[in-house]
Amino acid sequence: MAKSLQECDRCPGIHLPEPRPTCTPILWYPMRSARERIRVQAYTCECLHTFYELCHAGGQGFLRRTRRTHRTPYMDESLRMPQPRALLMWTALLTGDVL
Ligand SMILES: [Zn+2]
Repeated sequence: MAKSLQECDRCPGIHLPEPRPTCTPILWYPMRSARERIRVQAYTCECLHTFYELCHAGGQGFLRRTRRTHRTPYMDESLRMPQPRALLMWTALLTGDVL
């Protein structure tokens, strides 16, 4: 898995690889609540316009996507799911199997 993770010259953070031809799109939904207490467990590098986080809230896991292509960053999230499934989705994101 580590081989597919790209690191840029400028920063040591995690950068997503090119999506595989068989890549499955993640369905993204508006964030539930900005006031919700969310624990970020892992994240991709913030040097790019779009970055991703593996999150945990209310006993469930999900991915969060932040896009900074407009003046105000826009955040959305995947479906909530049991933590082990969220970790599988995160791993698939890091290997280019989902996006
Ligand atoms: Zn970076």
